[in-house]
Amino acid sequence: MKRLSSRRCCRDCGYIGNVADESCPKCGGEMFQRDDDQEDVIRNRLAVYDKSTKPLIDFYSEAGILITIDGDKDPKIVYGDVKQALGL
Ligand SMILES: [Zn+2]
Repeated sequence: MKRLSSRRCCRDCGYIGNVADESCPKCGGEMFQRDDDQEDVIRNRLAVYDKSTKPLIDFYSEAGILITIDGDKDPKIVYGDVKQALGL
């Protein structure tokens, strides 16, 4: 909730940063909060995740094909971990 509600996007280049970015660090454009990053919308997104997406973890785990990737690392490292897990 904290991470999503603090997310901000650049109007000009689409860079995704956070509330600490007063202007876009890439192009200097204006940063804004998307409608789907409002707290009540996030709450609904998380509820939909719990109901519709989370059950897939058990499904794929029971099928023996679940691969878990730590998404809290630097995006480039996560991308590398995903590629490695998929044998790409
Ligand atoms: Zn920008």
